[in-house]
Amino acid sequence: MRAIRVSEYGGPEVLKLQSDVAVPIPEEHQVLIKVPACGVNPVDTYIRSGTYSRKPRLPATPGVDVAGLIEAVGERVSAFKKGDRVFTTSTVSGGYAEHALAADHTVYKLPEKLDFQQGDAVGVPCFTAYRALLHSASVKAGESVLVHGASGGVGLAVCQIARAYGLRGLGTAATEEGQRVVLQNGAHEVFNHRGDNYIDKIQKPVGEKGIDVIIEMLANVNLSNDLNLLSQGGRVIIVGSKGPIEINPRDTMAKESSIKGVTLFSSTKEEFRQFAAALQAGKEIGWLRPVIGSQYPLETVAQAHEDLIHSSGATGKMVLLLK
Ligand code: NAP
Repeated sequence: MRAIRVSEYGGPEVLKLQSDVAVPIPEEHQVLIKVPACGVNPVDTYIRSGTYSRKPRLPATPGVDVAGLIEAVGERVSAFKKGDRVFTTSTVSGGYAEHALAADHTVYKLPEKLDFQQGDAVGVPCFTAYRALLHSASVKAGESVLVHGASGGVGLAVCQIARAYGLRGLGTAATEEGQRVVLQNGAHEVFNHRGDNYIDKIQKPVGEKGIDVIIEMLANVNLSNDLNLLSQGGRVIIVGSKGPIEINPRDTMAKESSIKGVTLFSSTKEEFRQFAAALQAGKEIGWLRPVIGSQYPLETVAQAHEDLIHSSGATGKMVLLLK
């Protein structure tokens, strides 16, 4: 089969397309999925570069978010059979490949109303969004939430979930198209995080009360401003950060605000099951509609990694096309 293999950590050039990779065989509690498209996550680029805490043994194939048809099941798999439409939150053999192995507890049924590319945008983006809002921030209906970086895979999922749970949503994006998509996906107001004085513009509609919850995609740039935007008892949930930042701890004191980090893969199996159940309801009823942004053929994977990190103007989840 065709698959991307990484034999050494480094820049996007270490992503090599091979056409003679053996199709893996599912073992106990594993399934084999035929993959038409795979999601590309920022963490794939951190792992590839060798700078991330998790370092797979090389050679390896990147990618955790796949959706497709079950092709074969291993021993003791009872929840799935050949031909089932599924998506994953993790893979064993890597998702940038025509077939991927996954452990059965990381595989979920994909409703007919979502296509496979939308299925690629459920795993890491939607599960992270749900964990950040409901588990980490413990939001209550009627609260306000700023999605600081709302136009990407995680941000749009936060906007949709926030609207469904009765929150007042504010989002940010760098381009007009990104801002349009943010409004279409549940935010009540949108701001340009590259615009002049945009923090002042956010402060206006929020007034003296401030924002109850901020879901932060780029904390190393925004955390200090976030602390000044919060309400009494407000909380910043850090989903993404690409480096250090200086803050004044005093900014947390008067409002007794809190800063909390979130990592999807700290979730227990039981939490994954809970998130999956809530998100499944959203997919069935229609308030969760994963949004696909840029699409790249498998052979242009190096460009995809380059653009994911260095280009602005997200309009949804990036995917790699396998055929
Ligand atoms: P993505 O699809 O590439 O989106 C990146 C987002 O960041 C876009 O909305 C982008 O907006 C926005 N952004 C760029 N500059 C910004 C700024 N100055 N202020 C605020 N936002 C800005 O990535 P993703 O999959 O949504 O992931 C977002 C972040 O969360 C990444 O850092 C990723 O590593 C992290 N993440 C963490 C977890 C976890 O478990 N903690 C899970 C998934 C993702 P424009 O393109 O419009 O500028």
